[in-house]
Amino acid sequence: MKFLPELFDNNRQWAARQLADDPSYFGRLAGIQRPDYLWIGCSDSRVPANTIVGLAPGEVFVQRNVSNIVHADDNNCMSVIQYAVDVLQVSHIIVCGHYHCGGVLAATGPALAEPLESWLSPIRCLCRDHAQTLSGIASDDERWDRLCEINVRAQVSTLTGLPILRSAWARGQSLTVHGWIYDIKDGLLRDLDVCTSTA
Ligand SMILES: [Zn+2]
Repeated sequence: MKFLPELFDNNRQWAARQLADDPSYFGRLAGIQRPDYLWIGCSDSRVPANTIVGLAPGEVFVQRNVSNIVHADDNNCMSVIQYAVDVLQVSHIIVCGHYHCGGVLAATGPALAEPLESWLSPIRCLCRDHAQTLSGIASDDERWDRLCEINVRAQVSTLTGLPILRSAWARGQSLTVHGWIYDIKDGLLRDLDVCTSTA
């Protein structure tokens, strides 16, 4: 007996619908992968990269982790960025956070068990660095959301300092880094105006 049969049923129906719309769909996708975008987002189940920007399979290369953090010593994230920049030669890297991010909130509370505590440590640092701004916000929800924005900006900053990106820019590769935030309550993206396209 197969496990999770409902998911296999969904899959068969989805594949059939794709073929009905476009008989060459899978043949074309299997031939080549050439996405123009790398998406670095949160693992949160409510923020599916392709869906919220209306992109089909094949159009966006994706790295998702808890609270969309770019750790320079994380081989997983670094490998994704390296492959996207050096091999796929994407033109855009989008760091997309979201309001009411559970990981961001967790980083403001008591110490967590490992490895989550270490993973979220950059956000604890951001809380300390921005304590004055954050303490001036009376509403808990607004303070939480402001920290989500601060986190996106910090990850964009880390990203633009990486040797992978600096080398790409040095050799004249066209590459722009964007910082966005998604609002789960209205389904809309906001640009945080931290666009960077040069070292
Ligand atoms: Zn999140």
